[in-house]
Amino acid sequence: MIRTTKSEMKNLVKRFLADTLTDLGPLEGDYRVAHLKADISQSILYMSIISVSTLLMLGMDAMFFRSDPGRFLLVALFRVGYVLATILVGRVLKRTTRVRDYDHLAFGWILLTILFVLLINFTRPANYLSASFDVVVPFVVYLLSPLKIRQTFPLAAGYSLGMLYIAFFRNFEFDPIILNAAVFTQVIVHVLGISFSLQLQSYRRKSYQAFIDEKDAKEMVAYLANIDPLTKSLTRRQFMNIAESEFRRFTRYRRPLSLLILDADGFKQINDTYGHHVGDVVLRSLSLVAMEQKRAQDTFGRLGGEEFGLLMPETTLENAALVAERIRHTWEVSPVNLDGRLIHSTISIGVAEAALTDQSLEDLLRRADRMLYKAKEAGRNRVES
Ligand code: GH3
Ligand code: MG
Ligand code: MG
Repeated sequence: MIRTTKSEMKNLVKRFLADTLTDLGPLEGDYRVAHLKADISQSILYMSIISVSTLLMLGMDAMFFRSDPGRFLLVALFRVGYVLATILVGRVLKRTTRVRDYDHLAFGWILLTILFVLLINFTRPANYLSASFDVVVPFVVYLLSPLKIRQTFPLAAGYSLGMLYIAFFRNFEFDPIILNAAVFTQVIVHVLGISFSLQLQSYRRKSYQAFIDEKDAKEMVAYLANIDPLTKSLTRRQFMNIAESEFRRFTRYRRPLSLLILDADGFKQINDTYGHHVGDVVLRSLSLVAMEQKRAQDTFGRLGGEEFGLLMPETTLENAALVAERIRHTWEVSPVNLDGRLIHSTISIGVAEAALTDQSLEDLLRRADRMLYKAKEAGRNRVES
């Protein structure tokens, strides 16, 4: 019974830690970079608000040190010095482009702020008002900085301990009731601050993860929509899209542009002899062989059935014919191995180069198609250009 409760507790704690403390693993860096700009502008906003408040508190100091202008001047000097330092940090922060630099600056500035408030604490005795003021500092540290708990906790805890020490053991009078209230509120603010901060950070990371997942899914859908599932080559539609834009480039810059149309020879026979499934395997294999032969800048797609197109920018008719011959030959000598059975087949290829007289991509396609027809007429397993 006790055992179960114990392991349940352990699981609960584990889940809490996994949910809230873990970072995004390999995505963590991207997450921080994606938020860096927002983190910087948010930090600068907070720095401005805190600077203005710091200066406004001079009014309180004036009342507090009414009878001690020397001390007032000293405190005013502290405040102005702190605000100037903050402005300096803010200026550097604005130009920061690296997460690591941001973290160092944010940590440094929080430390500076804590030391400054502790210094101010030295100048006055603890009372109810200051005890409630002192709640603000750890709260701000936890909630307003994107730093991790392992960085913010030592800062906030250091502040609380320093504040309690200065206010009650170093300074003027010692009031056990105020000490009690101060310790109690400090404990509460740490518990609340840590739990809010963990929740906020976990929420920010989860929403980033969801954003990335959605982006990946969208990219995958777009990718799949453009890829023919059987042959893994581009779909006819995507091939035509790219061909249209390459043709537009040709009409504008007059750079050579060639097109190959490949068609499997006697493919009906292969289907009839071995079955449609084997025909599919042969088709996929043909597509892979052609894609291995093409260069990175070439576009290969399935135009339909057992017919493929290969678009070659920056390629003249002679060179395109050489590539076509290489593909034809490679295919001829690479029989498809199906469980030990070797299936030999051939292809015919029509080659055409875009000409100045071409009105549109259709003209180029028609010429390549005519060459393909010629190759078929001449006995198949050959290239015509
Ligand atoms: P040739 O081109 O040499 O003139 O003869 P062919 O037999 O290849 O020509 P045809 O265009 O008449 O036949 C093409 C055949 O390709 C018909 C069709 O069943 C087959 N085919 C088209 N798409 C696929 C496919 O995705 N899988 C399989 N297995 N067969 C396909
Ligand atoms: Mg055919
Ligand atoms: Mg055909």
